[in-house]
Amino acid sequence: MSAPAVLHELVARANDLAAVVDTVAGELSRADPEGRAGSRLPNAAGLIRQAALELAESAAELTRATQHRPVTFCRMGWGVCPEHGSTLIAMGTVTRCAVFGCGRTWEYKREVVPCAELATHRVVDADGGQTPVCGGHAAYACDSGGYVEPLTPP
Ligand SMILES: [Zn+2]
Ligand SMILES: [Zn+2]
Repeated sequence: MSAPAVLHELVARANDLAAVVDTVAGELSRADPEGRAGSRLPNAAGLIRQAALELAESAAELTRATQHRPVTFCRMGWGVCPEHGSTLIAMGTVTRCAVFGCGRTWEYKREVVPCAELATHRVVDADGGQTPVCGGHAAYACDSGGYVEPLTPP
């Protein structure tokens, strides 16, 4: 089985697993509505679904990589909204984009996790150094007065 096919298989298994966790959570809350045993399960199911999304995105990236040139990933060490930049709001273990109409949420503290989005731009330093960045980090770098240019296919 090819690597993308393996990843798609894993996505399906992760979604199945999340559904099983939902079922167990439902049974626990019916059996013991006051109990705390099941209180973490919805979060667990959310994390598994987030893992499924990451796997699906990995599969898509792998497919793009094998079809075209090698992909470059953003090198920034913290997360942003891939479209809007430094707009994340953390609430507990959930992170969302503050831009109205964006609607993106992540079931983890995204702003402290290194960015793994596809690079679409590069930031050029005063000394000529170049850093590949995603659209969100490009927007942030622009706002911060950095010099940003789009990555062009070779
Ligand atoms: Zn956004
Ligand atoms: Zn980025």
